[in-house]
Amino acid sequence: MIVGSGLAAWTLVREFRKLDAQTPITLITRDNGDFYSKPMLSNALSSGKTAAQLVSATSAAMAQQLGVTVMAKTDVTAIDPVAYSVTTALGPVTYSRLVLALGADPVRLPLQGDAADRVISVNDLQDYATFRAQLEGAKRVTVIGAGLIGCEFANDLVQAGYEVDVIDPGTHPLGRLLPLEAGQQMQQALAHAGVRFHFGNSVQAVLAAPQGLQVELANGQRLASDLVLSAVGLRPRIALAKAAGLQTARGIVVNRQLQTSQTDIYALGDVAEVEGLLLPYVMPMMQSARTLAAHLAGQPATLRYPAMPVVVKTPAMPVVVSPPLANAQGSWQVNAFSDGVDARFVGLDGTLLGFALAGKATGQKTVLQKSLPAVLA
Ligand SMILES: Cc1cc2nc3c(=O)[nH]c(=O)nc-3n(C[C@H](O)[C@H](O)[C@H](O)COP(=O)(O)OP(=O)(O)OC[C@H]3O[C@@H](n4cnc5c(N)ncnc54)[C@H](O)[C@@H]3O)c2cc1C
Repeated sequence: MIVGSGLAAWTLVREFRKLDAQTPITLITRDNGDFYSKPMLSNALSSGKTAAQLVSATSAAMAQQLGVTVMAKTDVTAIDPVAYSVTTALGPVTYSRLVLALGADPVRLPLQGDAADRVISVNDLQDYATFRAQLEGAKRVTVIGAGLIGCEFANDLVQAGYEVDVIDPGTHPLGRLLPLEAGQQMQQALAHAGVRFHFGNSVQAVLAAPQGLQVELANGQRLASDLVLSAVGLRPRIALAKAAGLQTARGIVVNRQLQTSQTDIYALGDVAEVEGLLLPYVMPMMQSARTLAAHLAGQPATLRYPAMPVVVKTPAMPVVVSPPLANAQGSWQVNAFSDGVDARFVGLDGTLLGFALAGKATGQKTVLQKSLPAVLA
């Protein structure tokens, strides 16, 4: 049994079916189970894609193709590891092995103001449909957060013709991933495309205005806006696992076979924390899905993460980044030129431990990636 129908769940099903065509699989999901590529949510607007157009295969088609029973629109509300069952509105459903592919919730900032509840986040297809509907007749969009997802939305929105303000308490875009010089080049490129950045600032309140919304910043400035999009991070959905007594930290704690602290329960994707690493990206999820599929099919398998650079989908300034591990010792060596930045994080012994490439320098990705150490050897 798999709970969830995001990329992690469906990738696991695909990988498992390559090894085992027989074992019954039930997939229980809160949404409708359709297959779509979540990364497209932040660059689909400018190409005019609707939520329906982002679906690459319906739940029914996936179920038939992969031999899976899908219980859609079904919320799992509890797990009983002793009885080997999960609770749903339709009653308990038993499993022999359970995989939690629950994803993550957008972080909600505690904002003031009578329109604070009108702030939206885009984290699934339904959210994207809401976002598209609210953009009807809108001109001005405020994006809270200049991280990867905030910058991608900002770029997509200006490309689609909206006025965009981005608010962030940091000093430059992608502050946690990019050294200053690379962030500044990205800022310039996005600003040139029309994005207005407000760094060193934060949103305090969102108020209803006669026409649209007023976004009040910490410095007292007020921005007129029609839509406020929050992109300030994601928090793994650990509540179910925690209530069932599974070990959790920032995510559901799993070993290198993706096994939780409870026998026969596994976790995968954005919800899983492997050896202290929370990597909410597609590449780590795919490595994990392959490992778990092999393990569930009875083959020896241990999760390894190679270096997995992340491509930031900002056409105004393409960026690819492979950040050094949190405890890496070393320094950034930055080479900035007119149309790009080549920044390399070099360890104390001279080895390459990470990189951030912007603009023309993104062409170096393949060569540099080969020199990087594994994230999980
Ligand atoms: C806008 C955006 C852009 C991104 N761009 C990139 C990118 O360019 N590159 C990259 O590598 N990564 C990107 N990511 C991250 C990547 O998309 C995610 O890491 C990945 O899709 C997570 O998949 P998942 O299956 O773990 O989670 P999700 O897709 O969130 O799926 C979770 C599933 O669990 C279900 N569920 C949750 N709770 C319950 C419950 N109690 N009962 C039943 N069902 C439940 C949900 O309905 C859903 O089906 C992006 C993410 C976002 C939001």
